[in-house]
Amino acid sequence: MRPITVAVPVPTLDSLTYNVPDGMPMPSPGMRVLVPLGNRIVTGCVLPPEGGSHETKQDLVASAFRRTDPKDIVDVLDAEPFLPEPIVRLAEWVAEYYACGVGEAIATAMPPRAWVESERHAAITDAGEARLLTERGLRRDVLERLTGGRVTSVGAIARASRGTHAALAALERDGLVTLTRPLKGRADASRTVRVVHATAQGLDPASLETPRLGERQRTALGRLRAAPDGLAAAELAADGVDSATIVRLARLGLVSIERRRVERDPFEAAPAVAPAAFDLTAEQEGALGTLRGIAATGTFAPVLLHGVTGSGKTEIYLRLARDVLAAGRRVLLMVPEIALTPAAAAAFRGAFGRRVAIQHSALSDGERYDQWHRIRRGDVDVVVGTRSAVFTPLTDVGLIVVDEEHDGSYKQDESPRYHGRDVAIVRARAAGAVVVLGSATPSLESYYNAENGRYRRLTLERRVFDRPLANVRIVDMRTEYAAEGPDVILSGALVDALRATLDRREQAIVLLNRRGFASAVFCRQCGDTLECPNCSVSLTVHRAAGRARCHYCNYSTGVPKTCAKCAGPYLEQLGFGTERVEAEIGSVFPSARVGRVDRDTIRRRGAIADLLARFGAGELDVLVGTQMIAKGHDFPRVTLVGVVSADIGLGLADFRAAERTFQLLTQVAGRAGRGELAGEAIVQTLYPDHYSIRHACRQDYAAFYRDELTFRQSMRYPPAVALINVVVKARTREAAMQDAGTIVEALRVPGPGAYRVLGPAPAPLVRLKGEHRAQLFLKGTHRTSMRQALLTVLGSRPEIARRAIVDVDPMSVL
Ligand code: ADP
Ligand code: ZN
Repeated sequence: MRPITVAVPVPTLDSLTYNVPDGMPMPSPGMRVLVPLGNRIVTGCVLPPEGGSHETKQDLVASAFRRTDPKDIVDVLDAEPFLPEPIVRLAEWVAEYYACGVGEAIATAMPPRAWVESERHAAITDAGEARLLTERGLRRDVLERLTGGRVTSVGAIARASRGTHAALAALERDGLVTLTRPLKGRADASRTVRVVHATAQGLDPASLETPRLGERQRTALGRLRAAPDGLAAAELAADGVDSATIVRLARLGLVSIERRRVERDPFEAAPAVAPAAFDLTAEQEGALGTLRGIAATGTFAPVLLHGVTGSGKTEIYLRLARDVLAAGRRVLLMVPEIALTPAAAAAFRGAFGRRVAIQHSALSDGERYDQWHRIRRGDVDVVVGTRSAVFTPLTDVGLIVVDEEHDGSYKQDESPRYHGRDVAIVRARAAGAVVVLGSATPSLESYYNAENGRYRRLTLERRVFDRPLANVRIVDMRTEYAAEGPDVILSGALVDALRATLDRREQAIVLLNRRGFASAVFCRQCGDTLECPNCSVSLTVHRAAGRARCHYCNYSTGVPKTCAKCAGPYLEQLGFGTERVEAEIGSVFPSARVGRVDRDTIRRRGAIADLLARFGAGELDVLVGTQMIAKGHDFPRVTLVGVVSADIGLGLADFRAAERTFQLLTQVAGRAGRGELAGEAIVQTLYPDHYSIRHACRQDYAAFYRDELTFRQSMRYPPAVALINVVVKARTREAAMQDAGTIVEALRVPGPGAYRVLGPAPAPLVRLKGEHRAQLFLKGTHRTSMRQALLTVLGSRPEIARRAIVDVDPMSVL
């Protein structure tokens, strides 16, 4: 017996033990292997021997795959570790901390097409063809599906009717069909092009005198003789040299054709920005000096860089990165969303040239594949990427920067539910690297850690050139409604400010964190509202698309003219979103050029980047959008920021509602006055006295932190305690509540301990995508024992565990 531990990409499944048959070399951690799993052969990844985590973790799915007698692995796919061992260990940590299957965590670290999976295929034999007409029933059906040489997956055939598997097995025994297992997916997905070279013979001047050479061939050969690196076949074709000509030349031995690998470059669209030549401000200089000192020690150090919007944090990252690279180590820069922060990518590309790679999920599979393999080969020193780039196969990382560390998109909202920032800290610790968390509005967690001395804290209080922060004015919408009626969208103050901005030929940003045209359709006759048939939410009207759409499951229907319930014609549209604000601004200022950025406008790849580029180039006057436009942009001609309903979200029963509101308002106000022109922000709200709005308007982070921490401590929410959220899904509301109740009772059995259990309660979104949902919480100070207790309880109730979502350190409990 030569056992190895293997992670397979199956949700919630723990690592499995296999045997390496005699004669096969022992694969090392990070290599991919083919292993039998149930009746399939799947790709797995070899884990380090004493990984440790699999000893304590529970297998959430029934232990159907656990074997006392391990099966043999089928094959080893790699000669070198595919994933570097530190990344394998990082994935193991993620699986343990976030309570997910280790294979799922490993899969997150893999590039596209790394898992080759096999499925059985069936084909008909000659004997089968001959017997086709004499067979009957299911056997006949199966043979008919295969006749004429069609090869079909067993799964596809079996789906057609029951009993097919048995029929296929019998047909195979009788020699009428064959069953094979081809590998699915190609192992190498590099893109190649055909390149044509003149051969030695072709380079000989005498070759042009070859008697059989036609006019076209002579011209083509002339061109190739002048191109020492060869010419791509496509290039030649564009010049009128067709492939027949090339083939003729090749037959004559005058040219050769080879396949050359090309890299798909996602930077093609994002030009590099030349490095700036300015001097740092005194504050920047101070922060950079400290960071350099920390980096020089070459040991793990977490640092919170708290710098107001426009204080020049990017420049600090760049200069620190240069130092780290000079010391021979590598750099990872994480940003919340590359499409929205192209500036960071362009700046790094400008500073460090071709040895920069970019990794994020909006790249095509091919691009991601190429970038990943470039990094893995060691051709890259700097990686710029989103959340998943925390698993980038970069070796010898000396610096990780997590820009806008407070941003919610660092948390993945499907399994594995990891937080990119927190995984970055764990990675930096293992690598002995500096990790810089940058933000103008740090998360409560990070600031709390800084206050408690777990992170170093560096502060930038001033903008570059001492530019003032935007002056913020609050408009109380209650007085506006009293004076102008309930349909006001843009207050008088905002309209006046917009007019003045447009008159001065400056630019404005208008934020409303809700997309669509109207947020509900309501019948005035019977009071019914148009709801999603799958989710407990009302449908949003999208006027341009002419649809009423669910923002959770994407169900949509035409906008009705009459009520579906009472057939009355008195339908009213309530509430408004960005589409409506865009229309409103267009009707008040018909000559203004207005653009809109929200999730409805990003359907086409690159659409957002285009819009932002047009706005940056001054081709648009006003940009309307959701929170997407609040993120990290630097538009020097923006002098006005309007916030239409600042309190959206404050009404939600989520413990982070105030924090999110504060961050959004501070960030969006920070978009104004970043150039030489001073800026103003106008904030419309129904709750002018709420502390998140008051402090955001004064851009007073410290005051907000104190108030918010008091609230979190009194209500026992993070960062005062650790929180785990469990949502149980079921067919009916009663079943969901009952199953959640079973979990709660089992968790309470040990009696008062290191944690408290709350619930069960109907989840705020009680129905989602057709499923009913109940939730429960664990709150405590010792995360490990909380998780352990939960896994034990779920492990012994696999039927419920399959329908449970476990979220450790949730960003939201909605
Ligand atoms: P932050 O990320 O802190 O909000 P940025 O890094 O986007 O700020 O910097 C804001 C702007 O100031 C950018 O255009 C940047 O090029 C510029 N900048 C940064 N540092 C300096 C400096 N020392 N002198 C002049 N301009 C600077
Ligand atoms: Zn829905």
